[in-house]
Amino acid sequence: ATPTALMVGTGRGAQLGILIKGPEVLESTRRVDTVVLDKTGTVTTGRMTLEEVYAAAGADEKQVLRLAGALEHASEHPIARAVATGAEEGSGTLPAVAGFENVAGLGVRGTVDGHEVLVGRARLLDEAGVALPEELAALKTRAEAEGRTAVAVAWDGVARGVLTVADAVKETSAEAVRELRALGLTPVLLTGDNRTVAESVARRVGIDDAFVFAEVLPQDKVGVIRRLQAEGRAVAMVGDGVNDAAALAVADLGLAMGTGTDAAIEAGDLTLVRGDLRVAADAIRLSRKTLATIK
Ligand code: ADP
Ligand code: MG
Repeated sequence: ATPTALMVGTGRGAQLGILIKGPEVLESTRRVDTVVLDKTGTVTTGRMTLEEVYAAAGADEKQVLRLAGALEHASEHPIARAVATGAEEGSGTLPAVAGFENVAGLGVRGTVDGHEVLVGRARLLDEAGVALPEELAALKTRAEAEGRTAVAVAWDGVARGVLTVADAVKETSAEAVRELRALGLTPVLLTGDNRTVAESVARRVGIDDAFVFAEVLPQDKVGVIRRLQAEGRAVAMVGDGVNDAAALAVADLGLAMGTGTDAAIEAGDLTLVRGDLRVAADAIRLSRKTLATIK
């Protein structure tokens, strides 16, 4: 590879909205045959909005939203922002939180108004020995079948309600997946979210169910990349979150969304400035072309 041709590739990349860490990065795209896409913030906008609030028998919706919103106010997660914003719109100033704790990939916990509150996946409640009653479990199943994410709310050891949040698939994602396929790459979806939600998003953008890895904890995302590599695949990973940083670093090629977190951008080899997934295909096309002129 002559340095001049690689420099030209780097300059063309900047025009397309691709920031390349160093010219040598282009070399690693040569073998890539699989592209792993994070769901939230990468395939979807990551701008979630609160849609519904349900209270279990004996609790009231206002309090479910108020306590959940207060706790989520302390978290940076896109789901947390949707819940906190929805709660502020509904009940104004939210109560203070003591002993806030973020449980990566599961949710949050802390004390609000003297109550021990849990907000997150059903598994978060499960691990705390809190059962989800039939009525709430049914609401959760229905929301997930519709592609929404269900968030469980419990306090003082009892499940009190379910919130639903929704996140739109980016308009460009389905086209991006088509372009990646046309380049001969196998698209894979990787997410910490529920399987039903993940498959609903996968279907909308054209990823096969067999290539959906759902309910993957942040610390296990890197294991999925390694497993694909162990199968002999050369893997590109596209992600935006703190949760994706380790996977971006381990992948043969890490592409960070420029709209994402600094941790992801630092871990990636390339940054897609506008957060448009179609540019991932441009990046692979560009580097193949650059490498071809070098030969
Ligand atoms: P992704 O891999 O799609 O970017 P995460 O790993 O960040 O998602 O989160 C996985 C799942 O954990 C979320 O879909 C959600 O159900 C739950 N979760 C994580 N953090 C929170 C939170 N602060 N509030 C509610 N739910 C949460
Ligand atoms: Mg993400």
